Amino acid sequence: MPTTHKTKVLIVGSGAAGYTAALYATRANLAPILIKGMQPGGQLTITTEVENFPGFPEPIQGPWLMEQMRQQVENVGATLIDDLIVKVDLGRRPFTLIGDSGNRYVGETLIIATGASARWLGLESEKKFMGFGVSACATCDGFFFRNREVAVVGGGNTAATEALYLTNHASKVYVIHRRDELRAEKTLQERLRKNPKVEMVWNSVIDEVLGAANPPGVTGLRLRDVKTGAIRQLRLEGVFIAIGHTPNTELFAGQLALDGEGYIKTTPGGVATSVPGVFAAGDVQDHIYRQAITAAGTGCMSALDAERFLAENEILAENEA
Ligand code: NAP
Repeated sequence: MPTTHKTKVLIVGSGAAGYTAALYATRANLAPILIKGMQPGGQLTITTEVENFPGFPEPIQGPWLMEQMRQQVENVGATLIDDLIVKVDLGRRPFTLIGDSGNRYVGETLIIATGASARWLGLESEKKFMGFGVSACATCDGFFFRNREVAVVGGGNTAATEALYLTNHASKVYVIHRRDELRAEKTLQERLRKNPKVEMVWNSVIDEVLGAANPPGVTGLRLRDVKTGAIRQLRLEGVFIAIGHTPNTELFAGQLALDGEGYIKTTPGGVATSVPGVFAAGDVQDHIYRQAITAAGTGCMSALDAERFLAENEILAENEA
């Protein structure tokens, strides 16, 4: 029998943004409900070591960090629910969301923290070595490739910035692109061209990520030249897939203003969306920084703004009564 859950603050998504929003909203006595979604813990659960989240002098594991956040949020008394939202109605307040379970969630305010998913090539071997040399986040994992050879796949701004970042650690960075020109900004292209550690591999795609089983790790790539069909192997230890991210916003299309790439539009420097009472935090509204700490920051902002919104609207309701 489907049930209806009502709350002042409904939060969708359980990455750093969603958990931080829940932490702040709970401590503001708003009794939020957080719906965990498809990948509880979010993108950090697919990284290994995390060294750039402040407060931890030693490297920590991404999944462990998210587990700590979950426990912290539960300890302060937030309600976390395992469900996947499949339908939303933002046409009027309170907002109604329907879960895969059939349950209804009704929120006076809504915080969307559904994140973005890194796009992957879709190779079996890529999946096999994910976290063992295959990554989609140079700032998370680049440090572990100090003085090693690595590759970045892609030709956009993300690939270029990831490659440039990796030159701070790696001894060599191949940029593997399926065409013979980059779509990255000209200034980034120029910086790549000038960097002696960067070698471009044009017109090439990865056929297979090569690796060892014990200990598990990437040992190279089998590449195919898309023009000639020629196969070659590169020996290296890390490969960073940077072929774009897809914001998880399909549910909200047509109900909230999205930008040209599908990210939720928020007020400059803020987290308010085009619908009053709906806030967006983390990667679902941020295609520039995409860090755990910035996601946590906007999660905090969205809870504080939801609290303010509720207070202002209660005052309005009282005046109208
Ligand atoms: P993007 O601009 O969409 O570029 C994706 C790249 O991956 C393209 O070069 C594309 O090749 C390649 N690609 C896509 N699918 C592929 C596949 N299956 N196999 C091999 N290659 C594939 O994505 P992005 O670089 O992540 O950038 C996303 C947005 O964030 C952009 O608006 C970007 O400007 C912004 N951004 C900005 C900065 C900055 O300002 N510094 C940094 C990062 C991101 P083709 O070129 O052949 O299509």
